[in-house]
Amino acid sequence: MTTVHSAHSIQVHNPADGTVVGAVPDQDRDAVAAAAAALRAAQPTWEEIGPAGRRKWLLSWQDWLIDNSARLSEIVRSETGKPRATADIEVPAAVDLMKYWANNAARFLADDHPKPHNLLGRTKQLTTCYRPYPVVGVITPWNFPLLNVFFDALPALMAGAAVLVKPSEVTPLSAVEIGRGWTEIGAPPVFSVVTGSGNTGHAVVEAVDYLQFTGSTRTGRKIAAACGDRLIPCSLELGGKDPAIVLADADLDRAANGIAYGSMFNAGQVCISIERVYVEEPVYDEFVAKLTERVAALRQGDDARPYSADVGALATPAQRDIVQRHVDEALAAGARTTVGGKSTGTGTFFEPTVLVDVDHSMSCVTEETFGPTVPVMKVADEDEAVRLANDSIYGLSATVWTGDKQRGEKVARRLEAGAVNVNDSFANMFSFALPMGGWKQSGIGARWGGAAGIRKYCRQQAITVPRLPMQKSEVTWFPASKIKTRALITLLQGMAARGKRRLPGPRS
Ligand code: NAD
Repeated sequence: MTTVHSAHSIQVHNPADGTVVGAVPDQDRDAVAAAAAALRAAQPTWEEIGPAGRRKWLLSWQDWLIDNSARLSEIVRSETGKPRATADIEVPAAVDLMKYWANNAARFLADDHPKPHNLLGRTKQLTTCYRPYPVVGVITPWNFPLLNVFFDALPALMAGAAVLVKPSEVTPLSAVEIGRGWTEIGAPPVFSVVTGSGNTGHAVVEAVDYLQFTGSTRTGRKIAAACGDRLIPCSLELGGKDPAIVLADADLDRAANGIAYGSMFNAGQVCISIERVYVEEPVYDEFVAKLTERVAALRQGDDARPYSADVGALATPAQRDIVQRHVDEALAAGARTTVGGKSTGTGTFFEPTVLVDVDHSMSCVTEETFGPTVPVMKVADEDEAVRLANDSIYGLSATVWTGDKQRGEKVARRLEAGAVNVNDSFANMFSFALPMGGWKQSGIGARWGGAAGIRKYCRQQAITVPRLPMQKSEVTWFPASKIKTRALITLLQGMAARGKRRLPGPRS
């Protein structure tokens, strides 16, 4: 199950049973630079064909994805140990995202013609246009090996950039297949996948013009520093410790079902997993009983009989060890489990676990766990819940559970998080019209969210074109003169200042 690096290749394992399921090259700096150079050479033509030309390729890729969905889903499963029901979602979610960008990119990338801000500006036609960064690097983690690539590669490609992907060394096989698909449909060579570990990722940062990163806050910090050195922009989608607030007026059955799903889906390996729950005192006992019942009912296993498992393996032994450490440290400090608490089976499985009697001194509440555990805390009221929810270095997303939707929205606006779902888990993630991004140490920038989600891969270019017939010279040009300078001051001050300060003349 450990990722094995030989001199030139990396073995990929199925964490559910430890079998080797593939191998990819561990590509070095030269290989990455060569891939980036080839992309750079092909990109201008890709930009030239415009959004309508690129749309055709995107939809052709979408067809390929659907036609190969069963095989791709198996590859996702083989390198992650996910149950089928979880792996099967990746292709359709990517298909949906493809439609979003295919249908909206042209509109989002259209030139803007802003109104001039003053009278002088009216002598020009003003245009802002959106020109892509030539080569965009996309570095991804292992939790959704197929979707994570599409999340960011699609808008970058539709913006007219060429895209260089470096998937996680733990789960590179899905990304390699996606690259194969792009070639198979005969698309222009503006999408490439390089494989390897952190060094390969660093080489990508050195070779591209914009870097989109999804992964841990620890690596994100290194990438931001490397991008800073090169003075290239980056956007970072990092870790989280998402709180859920259960108010006393909530429908407790829905809250328990939603929080069981939001904390255990993909074995808790979702950046926006619910990782801590604050429950108002009057309903605490009842909620804990209901959540425990839901979590205890989850079926865990390798899904040998299709769709017989809800919760699969963790992606690596290291990930399982983090989960075990968080649980052990909590128990040693006085917490209790109401269900679960240990690893099971031969693979990297960890029992779906509910922790109670926890507090903010424990690692299970302060650090990102990224596993199937959910600590629950009792709070006196809404104010305490909001204060504790905001007491985190992270600010990715949050949920609020209440019978009063208006109250839910009011609480949402008090939370320091990039997204808040009222009475639901993950809803923001599948609303591509909304931005998805983290506050605080959960990230910089955001993906999706209408025009901003594609324009982020573009450099803005300002163009002015005269509206009036051309003269040989302009009054503001050389030679300088007192009269011309005074006229300019009078004009600018007259247009911009207030009251009598609009009038020219000396002032002490
Ligand atoms: P990670 O940071 O260990 O690795 C992510 C990627 O970065 C991998 O491809 C890795 O090879 C590469 N990398 C490592 N060192 C590098 C370096 N110095 N330069 C360039 N690239 C480097 O993260 P992970 O363990 O694969 O994924 C889990 C993390 O991802 C969790 O923290 C999770 O919250 C986060 N995540 C965030 C989002 C989001 O949208 N905010 C989504 C999914 C996962």
